[in-house]
Amino acid sequence: MRIAIASFEDETMTFLNDPTGIERFEPGVRRGQDVIDKNRGIPTYINGYLRVLEAAGAEIVPIVEASKFNTPGPFSSWITAECFEKYTGEIAAGLRAAGKLDGVLLALHGAMAVSGVPRPEAEIVRRVRSVVGSIPVMVTLDMHANEDHELTDASDGVFILKTYPHVDSEETGMTAARCMVETIEGRFRPAQACRKPGLIIASIYQSSEYFPMKALYDRCREWEKKPGVYCVSCAAGFAYSDVPDAGMSVIAVTDGYRSLAETICEDVSALAWSLREHFSTPLPNARDAVAQVMDLVKRGEKPVVICDGADRIGDSTHVLRELLEQGATDWCIPGINDPGAAHHLEADHKTGDMVTVKVGGWYGEYSGTPVEITGRIEFMGRPVYTLIGPMNRGAVRHDGLVIRINLGQNRHVVVAETTRGANDASGFTSVGIDPGTLDIIPLKSRVHHRAYWDSVARVNFPIDAPGYREIPNLFELHYENLPEDIYPVGRRWRKSRVAEGGLA
Ligand SMILES: [Zn+2]
Repeated sequence: MRIAIASFEDETMTFLNDPTGIERFEPGVRRGQDVIDKNRGIPTYINGYLRVLEAAGAEIVPIVEASKFNTPGPFSSWITAECFEKYTGEIAAGLRAAGKLDGVLLALHGAMAVSGVPRPEAEIVRRVRSVVGSIPVMVTLDMHANEDHELTDASDGVFILKTYPHVDSEETGMTAARCMVETIEGRFRPAQACRKPGLIIASIYQSSEYFPMKALYDRCREWEKKPGVYCVSCAAGFAYSDVPDAGMSVIAVTDGYRSLAETICEDVSALAWSLREHFSTPLPNARDAVAQVMDLVKRGEKPVVICDGADRIGDSTHVLRELLEQGATDWCIPGINDPGAAHHLEADHKTGDMVTVKVGGWYGEYSGTPVEITGRIEFMGRPVYTLIGPMNRGAVRHDGLVIRINLGQNRHVVVAETTRGANDASGFTSVGIDPGTLDIIPLKSRVHHRAYWDSVARVNFPIDAPGYREIPNLFELHYENLPEDIYPVGRRWRKSRVAEGGLA
């Protein structure tokens, strides 16, 4: 049994400024044996493939793994056609050179947005198909995937994460690889369907462990217990890609029963539609949120994690400004992305210096304005450390230049040359902070941090601050490519809200 594996992944935020070219992918691209070596032992889709395929005695043919997630760097927007052609072409060429194959496993994420290619993942599978013919081609996706029937039409099986925070990548890889092996051995005949409930959902409402998303995953798991049903997935979608297939999708893979797969998709879609209003409950702004969080701390409900989900650039200052103005103490912002300030501090100062510097608020109008801080530099360096939380445990993180400034009263700001967070304690310990000393942990995250921090913090406090990415209020985004009737921001729903005297 010879099975090729390849990966081409992105979650493209199309509302940002600069296009994504080859240079954003290339430093992190893995080729040939490196694809296997770099994934082994880390809970990724590909490690899941390896575990099942190796146990089945299959020969694994690694082609290429091109993922922007492997290269921390500036955030960028639409992927260029040139970039898409390069890596899709590499996958096709690798498959052509591989000789006789029995199957292909593709790790694709599912929220790629490419200039001129409306459904990139389906297009990748069609290109693969044109090389390998009718052998099984199966796909694993992140639950932030935006897909429709074009992907299920082109492939033999689609398998999607059921957790956010994402802690089942390896398990999902194993599910796909098991299906692949059984299909090749003739013990399984994959038949799948896809349905879109017509919902677009901000990331902050997609936590898999809480209502309403949990209700959908519970229903998927109920279906999976039924005979002939192999895997039922519900991708919550990535609302920050302005693409025609944006929004939630439900995909079911059965053993030979296409009509059963369709029935399941209809059932889960109907449940999702019935829950639509729960996917957009309003959240407090930065000022109200900080006041409420300080109140919680006063009452001993601490530490509190503030999750500012809108700021994935990492430069916004809305929370920092409120923490300073309202006199909060015992907090540490683990990353204000400000390459200018970071390089200036490194050039002119050393650890131990007192400094006054303006930080953040440089990317654009939603970032807020720069905030002046004064304090002592207690850490300056380029930390390399191992993540300890349930997500990506064991993965090594390289942050680039990072400077921690102590403002007194156990208040700290970490200035970083790129986007930097703390999805677990290592984001703090790597710059010399014991998170156990903090009352307030302000993160620029939506849900991923909860895999670790829910077990440490007393309160998780989501807020609605302005930002360039993953804002809770989707009405602030200027979509051009969405279907008319997608809820709640499609043109049809917008019109009815205006008619009711709601939001214009
Ligand atoms: Zn995701």
